[in-house]
This record gives sequence, C-alpha cells and structure tokens, in this order.
Amino acid sequence: MVAGKTGRRALVTGGGGFIGSYLCDELLGRDYRVICVDNFLTGDPSNIKEAMGHPDFSLEEKDVTDPMDYEVDCIFHLASPASPVDYVNMPIKTMLANAVGTKNCLELAKRLGVRIILSSTSEVYGDPEVSPQAEDYFGHVNPVGPRSCYDEGKRFAEALCKAYEREHDVDVVIVRIFNTYGPRMRREDGRVIPNFVRQALAGEPLTIYGDGDQTRSFCHVSDMVRGLMLALSNPAAGAEIVNLGNPNEMRVIDLANFIRQKTGSTSSMEFKEFPQDDPHMRRPDISKAMRLLGWAPEVDLESGLDDVIEWFRRQG
Ligand code: NAD
Ligand code: UDP
Repeated sequence: MVAGKTGRRALVTGGGGFIGSYLCDELLGRDYRVICVDNFLTGDPSNIKEAMGHPDFSLEEKDVTDPMDYEVDCIFHLASPASPVDYVNMPIKTMLANAVGTKNCLELAKRLGVRIILSSTSEVYGDPEVSPQAEDYFGHVNPVGPRSCYDEGKRFAEALCKAYEREHDVDVVIVRIFNTYGPRMRREDGRVIPNFVRQALAGEPLTIYGDGDQTRSFCHVSDMVRGLMLALSNPAAGAEIVNLGNPNEMRVIDLANFIRQKTGSTSSMEFKEFPQDDPHMRRPDISKAMRLLGWAPEVDLESGLDDVIEWFRRQG
C-alpha cells in the first residue's frame, strides 16, 4: 500500500461498524491511508459509504480470524460484536473475534513493530462492586454466564496483549471503552439509546429491563474517537490501560424519560425482565485518561442525543 500524504497508514479492524467507521473518517481527515477489515457481521456498509469514495481508503471484506498481512504503521483492533443482543446471539463468533482476531492483530503488530490499540470494554469489570471503576479494579465477572463470551473474550484479548508485550515487546495500548453512542447505530442494534430513540419516535413503548434503576454513563462517539487517536499518538500511552467514557452517570429510567421529553414522545414504558448478569452500575474513573492523554469528554448528553434523534429521524 502506498502511504497517504502524511506517509502514515492505519489498519482498522471493525472499520465498518459504528465507532470504527468514525475512526476511519478521522484517520482519513488526518491524511492517513486506511485499510478497513470488516466482514459486516454487525456493521453496515452504509457507514463507510463516504470513505469508500476516498482515494486513501480501502476495504478488505474479510473475517479478522483469518490471517492478515498488510504494511501499516498502526493497528486499531475493533472487530467484535458489541451490543449485548449481538454477542448473546453469536457467542462463538464473539469469542473468536476477540481471541483469534486479537492474536492475528498482535502477530502483525509484532512483525511490523507498530503500535496496536485494542478496543476493550468496561464489561471487563462485569457487574462491578465499586464505583467509579478505575483501571486497577479486577472486576466481578461471571465466567460462564450469557455475557461471558464478550466479557471473557475481552479479558482474554487484554491478557494476550500483555503476553505479547512481555514476550515480544509489542507496543500495546488497551483502551477500555464505556457505553458510547451516536449516529450510525443500527435501528436494530439493541443497545439502550438506539432502542429508546427508535421506540420514542415510533410512539412504541420504551422497553425498560428490570426497574430501570441500573446506571450507565454515556459517551458521544466524537469524544471516543478523539480519545482513541490520542491513544495512538501519545508516546506515554505505551503499555498502558486506559478507561475512556463519560463519567456522567444516570439511571436507565431517567434516560428513558429524558428521551421521551426530548423527542416530545407520548410513548409508554414497558417493564421487562432484567437480563442475567446485566451490570447494576457503571461509571468510568477517567482520571488516568485526563492525566495521561489530556483527554476528557466534551459533548453532553443533551446535545449528543440531538445527533442521534436527528439521525433516526432521517432514517425514517
Ligand atoms: P459494531 O458492532 O458497530 O462494530 C463492530 C464491527 O466489527 C462491525 O462492523 C462488525 O461487522 C465487525 N466485526 C465483528 N466481528 C468481526 C470479524 N470476525 N471479522 C471482521 N469484522 C468483524 O460495534 P461498536 O459499538 O462500533 O464497537 C466497536 C468496538 O468497540 C468493539 O470492539 C466493542 O467491543 C468496543 N466497545 C464498544 C462500546 C460501545 O458502547 N459502542 C463499548 C465498549 C467497547
Ligand atoms: N436496556 C433497557 N432497555 C433496552 C435496552 C437496554 O432497559 O431496550 C438496559 C440494559 O438492561 C442495561 C442498560 O440499558 O442495563 C444498557 O444496555 P446496553 O445494551 O445499551 O449496553 P450495556 O451497557 O448493557 O452493554
């Protein structure tokens, strides 16, 4: 691959997905040449419609568990189902994207001597017993429950990154992503913000799992992509594990009410069974990201939700 104007080339696995497609756009905007590896298991080709028209972008439609060999200067490994609906339906594919897929990315990073950024998750903390969750918390994970394919898949991916770092001196940054939202989330994604916005706009009941007392903290995708880029460019991030997310914590029931209010919806609420092992609370401690990367989220939920509502309205 010929390098872009900057002479830099990036591999983005999962680049056809929600976060990955914004990351590809950002890299192209910074004059990287971008190779996107995606099999569209949970992504959508429309996410990269514009990128496809860019001369520095190329799509490799393939499974990240198949061997990969490219000439690049950095690797972002994002390929993995991420919505609980997706990974509970595809537990084996999820585990393999995070186990074999991560191994393939690490082998490539080792051969090329380049930095790899692993998109890990707040799910490595499981159903946490402490709040907020800092990077030194080991977590509270059910290793055999319905979410274990994802939680343990990511925990294995993290451990494998550390093994390659220790044994082969690979330059690894582990980013633990907390709930991130924005346009390009699929209508049927199943995660809470796309569900509530779609339901509110259609006048359908908002589905609350449990009593809605569980909490999450929502980060806009533009903030997340900025953080991922800093994880790439900041030399001090090497060998580090960093939480990225918005510490503004809220109850799911309050989110539902907020979305009803913002959309002017008269939708009712339908209370459903609380999913097994669903974390009761989640809030990132981002002091390390602030200190190490100079990063903090800038988009508040009010304006971030405007983007999503506008996106779903345009989708019809
Ligand atoms: P997404 O489902 O939109 O994107 C994942 C992408 O990976 C999709 O395009 C999918 O087709 C692709 N993919 C899956 N398995 C693959 C395989 N075997 N080979 C090739 N491509 C494959 O989800 P997202 O929200 O954009 O998540 C991206 C990454 O960020 C994931 O690794 C996820 O675990 C992590 N993450 C996301 C969040 C969030 O709130 N969005 C939170 C924590 C972690
Ligand atoms: N949730 C809900 N209704 C929905 C979708 C999700 O009440 O239609 C809840 C879910 O049980 C969880 C929270 O919202 O407690 C966030 O769920 P999501 O699937 O977005 O991501 P998670 O943080 O569980 O990975």
